[in-house]
Amino acid sequence: MSIAGYYGNYGGSFIPEILYPAFNELNHDFDKIKKDPVFWHEYCEMLAGFSGRPTPLTYANRLTDHFGKAKIYIKREDLNHSGAHKINNALGQGLLAKRMNKTRVIAETGAGQHGVATAIVAAKLGLQATIYMGREDMERQYANVFWMKRLGAEIVPVDYGSCTLKDAINAALRDWVSSFETTHYLLGTASGAHPFPEMVAFFQSIIGIEAKEQILRLEGRLPSHVYACVGGGSNALGIFQSFLPNREVELVGVEAGGKGQASGQHATRLAYGEGKPGIAQGYKTYFLQDNDGQMCDTYSIAAGLDYTGISPIFADLFEKGRVRFEAATDDEVIEALQLVMNQEGIIPALESTHAFAGAFKDIVNTSASDIYIINMSGRGDKDIFNIAEGLKDGEWKKFIGRKYKQYE
Ligand SMILES: *Cc1c(COP(=O)(O)O)cnc(C)c1O
Repeated sequence: MSIAGYYGNYGGSFIPEILYPAFNELNHDFDKIKKDPVFWHEYCEMLAGFSGRPTPLTYANRLTDHFGKAKIYIKREDLNHSGAHKINNALGQGLLAKRMNKTRVIAETGAGQHGVATAIVAAKLGLQATIYMGREDMERQYANVFWMKRLGAEIVPVDYGSCTLKDAINAALRDWVSSFETTHYLLGTASGAHPFPEMVAFFQSIIGIEAKEQILRLEGRLPSHVYACVGGGSNALGIFQSFLPNREVELVGVEAGGKGQASGQHATRLAYGEGKPGIAQGYKTYFLQDNDGQMCDTYSIAAGLDYTGISPIFADLFEKGRVRFEAATDDEVIEALQLVMNQEGIIPALESTHAFAGAFKDIVNTSASDIYIINMSGRGDKDIFNIAEGLKDGEWKKFIGRKYKQYE
């Protein structure tokens, strides 16, 4: 990286002048804490005591036997408090906000997972929280709205544009213009204007630091491949960063193939070659956009992967050929999910199952001397509505019907 916040041609900070003071202060304070071992120690202690880190690296013996090829390990981010990797970033930025003497955090959320992680951290650290969420998303993800409210956060519905994630980001930035003296903007993934991609990747790097140590202890050597799903890119960057200098380790990012490339209903920016470089939401990256540069509607069975942009760090690693990008379709994901549940007694989130599906497609080309690490970004019990639908479970449908009648 030569100019701060640029990764090759991507990244940067394309923000209105009115936000300069907020970003200047954040850049200054993030620079200080990223070199401060005391801060990192405090962060790790808090992760250990509150979130249950380090998360295990589980040997998937039955999946390994099933394929008879590479040895499969699973990095268990699902065992974090709140059930996913998002708490790593929320906690890191929450501690930074305290350092900066802020009393309030604001956040955007799409599927609601980042909103819940932020509400949890705000409650724990004694910060006020305001979460911006598109009206459309609030209706689709009511269970998460419920938890955010109960955890004490204020939810602000966003009623303009497409009433989804990108509008929630704009609303949060608008709040920040007038509130930054007391408020930190706790962004949820490794995208947006500098320093957010670097900062979120920094806090998520704990995943790869642990995974590398664990695999060296268990196997005495590095993995041949590491797989992770890619929405904005934070869990994938979290685990990949540790292995970037080891060129012999192949890094594979798996995007949401939705109903397949031909259907046009997917969120695959890189693997299908359909995303185009552009500048939006404060940074330059590959976006799914039409010929007029308007953002396309994206789709995935996994709400957390349903995003038009991708971390600028990945735009660069893609062009440099350091990370390979693949897509997994909804159908492939449902099939992989069923296999992981039956063979390992583990329920991955639909997002994380994309990483499994991508790995399972490639594994035929490996041998028993290869080692796979699959980053399981979160647990799947939150997805029971979508999974039951994907598996066409008729009994579940009847159960929902009975529940509904109780409330009538
Ligand atoms: C939000 C989410 C993702 C996608 O976000 P990234 O920033 O790409 O990691 C993946 N998995 C789970 C479980 C999530 O909640």
